[in-house]
Amino acid sequence: MSDSIRRHQDYVAGKFKLVDRVEELLERIAVNSHLNAFITVFSRRKLLDQAAALDRRIEQGQKPGALAGLVIAIKDNISFRGEPLTCASRMLTNFIPPYHATVVEKILQADGLIIGKTNLDEFAMGSSGETSHFGPVKNPWNLERVPGGSSSGSAVAVRAGLADLALGSDTGGSVRQPAAFCGIVGLKPTYGRVSRYGLVAYASSLDQIGPMGKSVGEVAYLLQNIAGHDPRDATSVLQEVPNYVKYLKTHPHHLRVGLPRQYFPEELDPEVRAHIEKLVAALKEQGVRFREIDLPLTEYAVPAYYIIATAEASSNLARFDGVRYGLRRPAPDLFQQYSRTRSEGFGPEVKRRILLGSFVLSAGYYDEYYRKAQQVRQLIQKEIRQAFREVDVLLTPTTPTPAFKLQEKTADPLQMYLSDVFTVTANLAGICALSVPVGVTSRGLPVGVQLMSDFFREDRLFILGRSIEKCTGEV
Ligand code: GLN
Repeated sequence: MSDSIRRHQDYVAGKFKLVDRVEELLERIAVNSHLNAFITVFSRRKLLDQAAALDRRIEQGQKPGALAGLVIAIKDNISFRGEPLTCASRMLTNFIPPYHATVVEKILQADGLIIGKTNLDEFAMGSSGETSHFGPVKNPWNLERVPGGSSSGSAVAVRAGLADLALGSDTGGSVRQPAAFCGIVGLKPTYGRVSRYGLVAYASSLDQIGPMGKSVGEVAYLLQNIAGHDPRDATSVLQEVPNYVKYLKTHPHHLRVGLPRQYFPEELDPEVRAHIEKLVAALKEQGVRFREIDLPLTEYAVPAYYIIATAEASSNLARFDGVRYGLRRPAPDLFQQYSRTRSEGFGPEVKRRILLGSFVLSAGYYDEYYRKAQQVRQLIQKEIRQAFREVDVLLTPTTPTPAFKLQEKTADPLQMYLSDVFTVTANLAGICALSVPVGVTSRGLPVGVQLMSDFFREDRLFILGRSIEKCTGEV
């Protein structure tokens, strides 16, 4: 059984008080402030009031929601009414949203307690947690290493025990990559599985909110509570939400697993390779069938992604003009006001993306870049769907290396972008993908394995993910 379900059951059985748990976590957050995992921790008084109200309901023998007793941290690009929503940007440092994201509403309806908003790369653009206006997030395994990004604070909060569970968002790997670097589990659900209402858009055709936890079971449990159709997000689908937790007990022997050759290149870190190979051998012993497959378009995924994502970002971020939201730098005329506000409000990486995106969409370059990238995206999607006629799950490393050093890649954006090489395909294709810890390197850094499956086949990811935990002895 997953830790979260057990904690929830213990809570309902009266084994602990939520007020005590909140006090404990606030203390842990304070002690670990050097990790810089949170941008906003909600007020102690408000949290304790909420916890006390729930504690009373339990004492009275009421049956609470499925997330009662669990404390959840959310990435600070997800809207929580009345609390700052910064996206780790100077642009939004004084913005307070007037509504809840759908995922927040769902968590609150299920009696989950949200403790605060976690740090991230500015507007979720980055792979290291270093582009935040509020300073870099640190990896709890090694303070000189990055925690991955952009859901850096959410991964660190879970790893360091500052919250039971967390939400991140994944546009090109931002849940899975920090999960891998921090040794936790993270899921990018199928596009449309979870409502994006109240998630600040980065690249709308790729964005998806995803659950993060210490175990596959926890992630399945949280997904079950946040997934589903939402009339306020036209891209969310009408499909029923299965009982994901049920799949944790299923044996994986019926699954056919593909190992795509292109995800095991020469340059792959040798320790990452060794961990994955060891895992594959262990799964084979359990009766899981493997075969090598080819995904020759893999090398085009990063270039296509960085064209489509930046194009969409340049359009989505046009709304931050100093008139409606956040920062405003008044000037004698409107154009100057836009220009001053945007020059001061956005950090260098966000500006780079807006410039790149405007360039690939501009007359004369549109066909050469944007349209071409969309065509490549179609082909990649076709190639992936074809693969799922032959296998049920694809198994790859989540990242080509373990967590790199702080500042190691900040001077070279291309190197930073290339670190997303294994994660962007799932977003381009719209399929679901899970990162699960497989071990720790000789330097003491976690390694993650990525599982991808077809649209709405999260069940397969959980089945195989759970058996991976059994092989590695984790959880
Ligand atoms: N690292 C990728 C980027 O910078 C992915 C970010 C994300 O998934 N939000 O675009």
